[in-house]
Amino acid sequence: MKARSENSVSLWAPLIIAVATALVAWDVIRDWAEVKDQAEQQLNAMARVVESRASQVFFSIDGLLTEVADELDAQQPKPGDAAFHKFMQARSKGYATALTVTVVSLDGTILHSTQAQLVGKNVGNRSYLTHFQQQPDDNQLYVGEPTAALLGRKVVFTARMARAADGTPKALVVSALPPAIFTSILDATVPDMETAAVSISNRSHIIVARAPDPGGQALGKSLAESPLMQAHIKGGMDTSLLVGPGGVDNAERMIAIRNVAPIGLVIGVSATIAEIHARIWRDAIGGGFSLLIVAAVTIAMARVVAGRDRARAKVESEIVAARDHYVRILENFPVLVWRSDLDGNNVAANRTWRDFTGSPGTIPDWSRDIHPDDLALVLKARAAILDGGAECEYRLAHFCGSHRWVREIARPLPGRHDDVAGILGVCVDIHDEKASKTLLERSNEELEQFAYVTSHDLREPLRMVSAYLTLIERRLGDAADADLRDFMAFARDGANRMDHLILDLLDLSRIGRMSSPPTLVALSDILSVAMTQLTVALADSGAVICVGDLPELVSSETDMVRLFQNLIANAVKYARPDVPPRIAIDAIRKGDLWEFSVTDNGIGIDPQYHDRIFRIFQRLHGRESHGGGSGIGLAVCRKIVEGHNGRIWVETPPDGIGSAFHFTLPV
Ligand code: ADP
Repeated sequence: MKARSENSVSLWAPLIIAVATALVAWDVIRDWAEVKDQAEQQLNAMARVVESRASQVFFSIDGLLTEVADELDAQQPKPGDAAFHKFMQARSKGYATALTVTVVSLDGTILHSTQAQLVGKNVGNRSYLTHFQQQPDDNQLYVGEPTAALLGRKVVFTARMARAADGTPKALVVSALPPAIFTSILDATVPDMETAAVSISNRSHIIVARAPDPGGQALGKSLAESPLMQAHIKGGMDTSLLVGPGGVDNAERMIAIRNVAPIGLVIGVSATIAEIHARIWRDAIGGGFSLLIVAAVTIAMARVVAGRDRARAKVESEIVAARDHYVRILENFPVLVWRSDLDGNNVAANRTWRDFTGSPGTIPDWSRDIHPDDLALVLKARAAILDGGAECEYRLAHFCGSHRWVREIARPLPGRHDDVAGILGVCVDIHDEKASKTLLERSNEELEQFAYVTSHDLREPLRMVSAYLTLIERRLGDAADADLRDFMAFARDGANRMDHLILDLLDLSRIGRMSSPPTLVALSDILSVAMTQLTVALADSGAVICVGDLPELVSSETDMVRLFQNLIANAVKYARPDVPPRIAIDAIRKGDLWEFSVTDNGIGIDPQYHDRIFRIFQRLHGRESHGGGSGIGLAVCRKIVEGHNGRIWVETPPDGIGSAFHFTLPV
């Protein structure tokens, strides 16, 4: 049981934690893909916005420069021509920030400019000059790097070749773009991320604008060697989405790169991977925290469940141990125990039973073990069990082959719901006890028989002795002297006493054997009969008898008369001289018994003789005093009371006068 419960805990607890971990991991992976996807979409979208704005700005600037170049070819103005100067100023004013437009000869001299004071000056080795000197056939707008212009402003030069109608390069039309132009392009395009950056680089991969760019440090920086730019170029596509070290701050970044064809500008919109990951970490930490809570709750539950299971397993093992204990007690109980169902089928028997009968288990046909002569009695007793219980004695088959006497007590077995679940019985082996009781009964019977026969036969020779004594007395007549007469009187007296003794003995031996059979008798009637037989003695002594309520009892009528007669006769016989006897007869119910008392105001009995007087031939007085007696009267009383399953004893009454004889009889 213990192993099973702990196994189940050790299975489901890790399973819950594993499932929770898998869910959290799955959530984090899904978040990771989502966040990455979002970041990519955001960066790409911004790159498109920047590309579109940059295209607009640069195509319109290119349009302006193309227009100036076309006009230059059409008008062929002299250097510093005022009309052409006005034309250029008018065209350049169409922009939010006034643009400086300049026409530079292929050797670097300013021929025309919206800034008139610049005409005639040499621009030196500007990158656009070098570029178009090296690639005179380039017909695209050239965007240079951030440079300090002649007027000292930091600008980005854009230039395009002005050609004659036959395509011969004639001059360069240049525009210096102020930082405000780029600000307008990048304005509000930076993604809503802390580490986000937007950059525009020219075809030589030099940064011409960047947001943010505190202190303008990024401007002019070359991205040509940056691994991300290298990867973009290598990819050969107009758009890329890459991850790598940023060209400006070298931080690991995700970047969306777009080429602005055909000008050759490259737009880069990026954010650091750390920031993108931070979002995932936030979710992952949240998930991890949830996982920790789940794990903690699971472990706590597992501990509670395991503890509860352990406690339950302990209780169960204690119950099993207790049940084993009681089963062992029942099995080895030194009496035969059996149990049967309500139909009387024997369903269980303890080991003592099995050892006694030699049967291996329960006995479906239990009746075969009962002695055939006793079966009817047993069946009758068992039929009465459900009415409260039954007791009987019968002979049960013993494993040695014979039958032995058992005493069986059977009771209804209470069920769990106050119903009767079956019958429970116990049998005690009374074989030896029964054998010795039978032996004793037989020997008592024989003894009584012997006493009866002996006393009966003794009277015959005694009668002869008395008869011949009478004859001798007659023959002697007056011839006998006084001594002889005395001797004859002693002999006659002896013979008479012996006759009395023998009669008393006969009486004693008849008790039980010759008593009337038990019937329901009213003891008040019995008492009247006893008193009638004592009429003379009672009248002579002037005795007063008080009688209480006496019950009716199943008993032998002759015995009861004898019992009361003996006790009342003694009360009269052992009265104090000159004190008329007062005798009180009463009965009190004490449970299953009636306790009777016969109390007198006579001479009383020394407590040391309270036991002795009930024995046969035990007298406390001389032969002549109190009218004599054989010492058998109380022995007869005891035999009657005990024969009726009662007890007799004598006490000194509380006032210390006389004697109180008590005896009990079952109700
Ligand atoms: P018995 O009366 O023939 O001597 P019992 O067996 O009746 O024989 O009595 C035994 C003895 O108990 C008597 O000898 C007497 O001493 C004493 N005894 C019996 N009943 C009384 C009594 N009511 N009061 C005093 N002594 C008694």
